[in-house]
Amino acid sequence: MIALGSFLLSCLVLLTLIIVQTVAKSPFSIFTLLLVPLITGSISFALFWFIVERFINKKIKIIYRIISNKKITDDNPREFKITEDVLGKLTEDTVYFAEKQSSQIKELKEQAEFRKEFLGNLAHELKTPVFSIQGYILTLLEGGLEDEKVNRDFLERALNGVDRISNLLEDLDEISRFEFEQQTLKIKKIDIVALAKSTFKELEQKAAQKNIRFQFAKSYDSIFVKADEGKIHQVLVNLINNSIAYGNEGGMTTVRFHDLDMEKSKDGKGKILVEVADDGLGIEEKHLPRLFERFYRVDKSRARNIGGSGLGLAIVKHIVEAHGETIKVRSTEGVGSTFSFTLERT
Ligand code: ADP
Repeated sequence: MIALGSFLLSCLVLLTLIIVQTVAKSPFSIFTLLLVPLITGSISFALFWFIVERFINKKIKIIYRIISNKKITDDNPREFKITEDVLGKLTEDTVYFAEKQSSQIKELKEQAEFRKEFLGNLAHELKTPVFSIQGYILTLLEGGLEDEKVNRDFLERALNGVDRISNLLEDLDEISRFEFEQQTLKIKKIDIVALAKSTFKELEQKAAQKNIRFQFAKSYDSIFVKADEGKIHQVLVNLINNSIAYGNEGGMTTVRFHDLDMEKSKDGKGKILVEVADDGLGIEEKHLPRLFERFYRVDKSRARNIGGSGLGLAIVKHIVEAHGETIKVRSTEGVGSTFSFTLERT
């Protein structure tokens, strides 16, 4: 466009020179006739080029200032050359910025939703024990304290409520330390088979109340892994506790170990998969993707009564991931559930 304009201007100058030459009857040299239009054309070309480029960039900078939150001077190649497809590039960038903005908005909305849900859940979790403690204390104050038949019982029930709140706070504290990355793992060589055996022992009595038995899938020798013993113990306690809480009367909890990397495991390296399986209630498939979220419960009222703080699996996931490993769940409603996580062999 600019080239065409400059060419036309050169022609115009040439025409003017020819007219002037004819009217004044004083011929210009061929040199003048060629050079003057050429110089005029070149100057106008350069001038127009400069003006148009400045104009486009000025306008476009305004647009970029509106759509981008980055400082324009830092922004990738946002000085336009008029030789390029300015509008095409601008459209491309606008679409890119619009998509970026909309994904940011979506993320912020999800975070806001998550915060709301979290606060609601937390309030609900605290409300139940606080109201029950309040009820017992009021009854004691209104005369129950003097009644030998109820005073001890009510105090014990109030204490249960306090224990529940304290467990909840401890679990929340644990999660927030993981989320703020303030947890440092004490990684050392541990025997995961021995750890599972001692966890079985600890929870034996609890399981016996529901006639649930513990077993290993087969007899295992020691398997040494690199892990934080206290934290992995907590993972096993939470998973085995759940297998009891959501297990059937007279059921079975099975712990299994698999070598994942057969080649490497021959010389004692590679991954080991630890599985905790039960033949209990099982979980409907639609719940599985959200199971490890804080306070997520399949059957809310039931789980609140038989389960813990609702944070057990969230803590388990944090611990496993802090080890750089993964945890998965397989489950079929009415058949049972299997939670499996990996650990690194030493
Ligand atoms: P809770 O304190 O409610 O047990 P968790 O985070 O440990 O919290 O578990 C979250 C939910 O996952 C439970 O409420 C329960 O619905 C479900 N769940 C966990 N483990 C099992 C299991 N072994 N069998 C069936 N459902 C389970």
